[in-house]
Amino acid sequence: MDEYTARADILGCKVDLLNMDEVVALVQHMVEKREPRHIITLNAEIACIAQDNSQLREIINRADLVTPDGIGIVWAGNKLGYSLSERVTGIDLLYNLCRQGAVQGWGIYLLGAEPGVAEKAAARLSEQYPGLKICGTHHGYFAEEEIDAILEDIRQAAPDILFVALGAPRQEFFIQRYKESLQVPVCIGVGGSLDVVAGIKKRAPQWAIRLNIEWLYRLLSEPSRWKRQLVLPRFVWRVLRQRSS
Ligand code: UDP
Repeated sequence: MDEYTARADILGCKVDLLNMDEVVALVQHMVEKREPRHIITLNAEIACIAQDNSQLREIINRADLVTPDGIGIVWAGNKLGYSLSERVTGIDLLYNLCRQGAVQGWGIYLLGAEPGVAEKAAARLSEQYPGLKICGTHHGYFAEEEIDAILEDIRQAAPDILFVALGAPRQEFFIQRYKESLQVPVCIGVGGSLDVVAGIKKRAPQWAIRLNIEWLYRLLSEPSRWKRQLVLPRFVWRVLRQRSS
């Protein structure tokens, strides 16, 4: 959405220079306009993968809004001379949009996570944000031949916002592929957020988030992620190389 914002270029991925309040205001605008929009919450891991994967990079650069999900992206943006004030993470965005949705009477659909998790997340969100409409939920472990039925369920539910929690970058490919046929005003990839909303997984404590070491908390609480985080030194190196080029 070129008319909207200034952008950073981080390893060939665009990132919009917006804070949380500005993103929520933009989403309000998107919901009112009712054209299918794609929002990506970008972290260092995905930016690094995208540098080597032109298809993913193109999806990111064609998305309507890309927010700095990880502290690595905020760090890189500032290192490269842009002004990025704060992280706009998938989970914080989800909560903020549910709060706004409760006031505006928006409907949301939750797609993703293990069977039962999206329903649990939905129950928690409607308890926490009375006025928010939960239009539907579906787990994220479906076969290719089930996709048509899921798309039809989402179309029938006609939400204002579709949260897709299939993990990155699968959720980005999913949204890009189906957003036109879904005609949902706002589709957002939110990674593992439904697990946290449902209470299956714990988010890092506030002090760790404030100290910008949420990634470390995640690494310690889910050691199996270490392989994925090996990409981070490469990300730092590539950003420094971009800065000096
Ligand atoms: N997931 C899914 N379908 C799949 C694979 C994963 O719905 O085929 C879900 C998984 O249950 C989890 C989320 O996608 O809820 C991925 O979480 P992760 O923390 O790995 O995502 P990230 O935030 O790192 O992208």
